[in-house]
Order: sequence, then C-alpha cells, then structure tokens
Amino acid sequence: MLNLAPYAAKPELSLGREFDEPPSNTRNAFQRDRDRIIHSTAFRRLEYKTQVFVNHEGDLFRTRLTHTLEVAQMARGIARTLNLHEDLTEAIALAHDLGHTPFGHAGQDALNACMRDFGGFEHNLQSLRVVEKLELRYADFDGLNLSFEVREGILKHCALKNAKLLGNVGQRFLDKTSPSLEAQLTNYADEIAYNNHDIDDGLRSGLITIAQLAKVELFANNLAIVQAKYPKLEQKRLIHETIRRMINTLVVDLCTHSAHIIAQHDPKNISDIRQLPQLISFSSAIAEQNQKLKQFLRKHLYHHYKVNRMSAKATRIVRELFTGFFENTGLLPDEFQAYAEIDKARAVADYIAGMTDRFAIREHRKLFTVEEYL
Ligand code: MG
Repeated sequence: MLNLAPYAAKPELSLGREFDEPPSNTRNAFQRDRDRIIHSTAFRRLEYKTQVFVNHEGDLFRTRLTHTLEVAQMARGIARTLNLHEDLTEAIALAHDLGHTPFGHAGQDALNACMRDFGGFEHNLQSLRVVEKLELRYADFDGLNLSFEVREGILKHCALKNAKLLGNVGQRFLDKTSPSLEAQLTNYADEIAYNNHDIDDGLRSGLITIAQLAKVELFANNLAIVQAKYPKLEQKRLIHETIRRMINTLVVDLCTHSAHIIAQHDPKNISDIRQLPQLISFSSAIAEQNQKLKQFLRKHLYHHYKVNRMSAKATRIVRELFTGFFENTGLLPDEFQAYAEIDKARAVADYIAGMTDRFAIREHRKLFTVEEYL
C-alpha cells in the first residue's frame, strides 16, 4: 500500500485480537482477517440470502453475496483514493452483512419482534456474534478471532444497553467517539451499492419505471447526460450508463468532500480520528439528492405491493419457525439444543438467523406440512 496516510489504520499498530496468535509470515493482520471471513460458513450462505428480492425470484437479482462484493469493490476504491488501508476496508465490507437473517429486512424485523422480550435481534450485532462466537472452525477459540479494527467496523451502530455488554468494541458508543476512517467509508460504500443496485433490480423486475425515476434529481441529472450524448440508446444500456454515472457521482463526491474535511481537521494518527467527529461524508448537496433517492426507493420499491406480499410471507415463516422451535427445542439440531439449555430464545434466533432463504422455506415445510418427511 503506497502512500498510506498517517491517520490510516495500520495492521502493525492494531489493537489486537482477543486471543493472541503468532503473526502470519505472508499476510498482514487485516489480510488474514479478510481470508478468514471468506473461508467462513456464514460468508458462503450470503449467496442464498435476500437483498430485496427473494433468491428464487430470478437469477439476475442481487443477493447478499453479490451485494457484499459490490460493497467491497467500491470501498476499496474509496480507501485507495483517500490513502486508507484497503485490506482493512475489504475485510469490514466482506463481513458487514454476515449476520443478516433470511428474507432481508422483513426477516430481521420479524425475528426482532419475536425476540422482543429476550434482548431483541439486530443484524449488525449478529454479524459481530457470527465472527466472535458462532463460527466454529478453530481449535483454540470460538469465532474467527478477528482484529479489533475489523470488529469495530462491523459494529456500525449499537444501542447503549448492548454496547455495555460488548467490551472494547462497544466502548465507542458509550464514549461517543468515532471508528476508523476505513469503517466510516465502508458504511457509505454499503449505501451507495444498495441504492444503485436496488434501482437496477427494481427496473429489471418492472416494479419501478424510468418515468418514475426521472423525477428523482440524482437519476434525472445523469439520465439527461446519457440521453444528450447517446440519443438513440436502447433501454438496457441507457439504464446501465445512467446508474454507473450515479455511482460515480456519489463516489467522487464522497472522496472529494471527505478529503477536504480530513484536511480541515488535520488528524495526525488514528487516535486523532477516534476523537474527532466522523469525517467521511457527502457534500450537503449530494447528501440531499441521495436522501431523496432513498425516499423514492422506500416508497416505490421497498413498499411496492409485490414486495409487501413477499415480506408478509417471510414474516409469517420466521414467526412460525421461531414459535415452533421455542415451544419445542427438541426440534432443533443437536448443537443448538445444547445452547438452548443456556439461552433458549437466543439459540432459536441464532439458528433462524443463520438460515438461507431457501433453507428457511424448506425448514418451515418440514415443521408444518404433514406430507413432508424428515
Ligand atoms: Mg449491506
């Protein structure tokens, strides 16, 4: 990594792992973390988890895995532009959605409602739980034993009551300090990725139209540029050319504005970054356009009646699975039964959260359909 900024995260200055390990001969600590994430079971499951559209609805829609790869790619680009640590950024991006339930936000909301009296369920916290506890691969410890900086980046937000239970990684929510710039920028890469790919998937599915989007400034501005340059362009290329310009507008603005804010505060090292307010941000004009785009997607895509129907089904499946297992933990696989002796609700939530969309559907059928065996 050439030209690493003095305030970038540095693996040799990492706050370390929970369990000490000898360093790798060939990789820095953040590269090693990234590799552990890619080899995890939870990472492979991302392929069959929903973003907005349920996995079996079509082969061209984003899944959590392709979303995660888009986030990692954008985040690395932003990190390189700002002279921040690409390996750390990539590790955070690849792990950021590991705790997601099946069926996207509908699944998470349903599981959270089921867990209301048992500490709630939050996918962000669950991502941390996956890498700290649920992956059982190493002889010496549970979880992946990742560096502090990666775990800090995974925990984007956190309620104060939970922060108190999380040790060093929860402390910043109590102290109101900031995470590394690598963690901050990965949040933005996540948002840029999903807003834009949801437009793409939304148009492909026919749930939203170009005519509707032409009223959204960020889309309209870039659409006008493409139409002026290529007046006869077919629709598929028109959409792609517009979306790639939107992504570029957002990424360039984020890099330019953040570089400006960083220069104003002149941090000397990562400790300064932690004491300063969050420095990665869009300019106010682009932040406003981005906000309007999100409002549009919420109204016209995430609450489209066809998406609502899928969400309602997902809610029902998650709720019924939870009740079924909670009332009879003897239905859980052995390893979850053992944990259910200690914390029944959390064991059921961990089991459900780990399911892919299709596994949850199958499991529901096995539990509730009389004709289904096993
Ligand atoms: Mg995400």
